Amino acid sequence: MKTEYGQLTWQEIRDADKDRVVILNVSATEDHGPHMPLDTDTVIGMAIARGVAERIPDQVLVMPPVPYGFNEHHKDFPGVIWIQPETLIAFITDITESLAHHGFRRVLLLNSHGSNHAVLDLAARKTVIRSNIICVSASWWNLIPDQIGKIRRSETGGIAHAGEMETAVYMHLHPELVDLSKAETRNTHDPDSRFFNLDLAAGGGGAMLMRWWSDISPDGTMGDPTVATPETGKQFLDAAITRCAELIGEMRALGPMKRRDHHGGAG
Ligand SMILES: [Zn+2]
Repeated sequence: MKTEYGQLTWQEIRDADKDRVVILNVSATEDHGPHMPLDTDTVIGMAIARGVAERIPDQVLVMPPVPYGFNEHHKDFPGVIWIQPETLIAFITDITESLAHHGFRRVLLLNSHGSNHAVLDLAARKTVIRSNIICVSASWWNLIPDQIGKIRRSETGGIAHAGEMETAVYMHLHPELVDLSKAETRNTHDPDSRFFNLDLAAGGGGAMLMRWWSDISPDGTMGDPTVATPETGKQFLDAAITRCAELIGEMRALGPMKRRDHHGGAG
């Protein structure tokens, strides 16, 4: 069974089970330290989406990814392609409106880049309002905080950007493209802060400040890539695929959107 949206013909889309959940990975093209490539977020996001499709092929369709995101704060590092958040919301909701137009009723915006989180949350909400379909947004690390806690070797602050987890997953997928000899520990977490925490497994702090990336990190890394291994990378990835497949199951069980307009008089 085909699971890649782009590999279907228009007749196959017409006849497809419209309760299949369409997964759209949105990522970024940006610096990931001196030890790994610009396409890290896309490679990881698509590995999760395709891993889900392998496990439950009749329940999903995987869209071609959107490999650019909201990351102008990274622009001091060569190679970064940034999209304004307003543009990204408009672009994503045009995609979801197209899917709704063709009859699909359930879309998962699978995020694999930290600063897209709030943007995709808004895009999902806007899709519900504009297209009246179920549209869920999820950042993959938020699906597995308990699992990350069990698998990780780094302290808090070690898993943020190009840190332990992303490095480990990329080493599992494409070891030839990761050069750990160039990686350094850049754990910028302040244990004394009551409000700020950028570690992906720690659920964030109570407040948020996103500085210029070049202010936070001298080489683009935030975290501890030095403890990454392909074995833990496979564990992180498998956990994300399992939990994402469970999310798909829950999305498929949800009823359709219903509205009741209360403007019409008594009752
Ligand atoms: Zn990343």
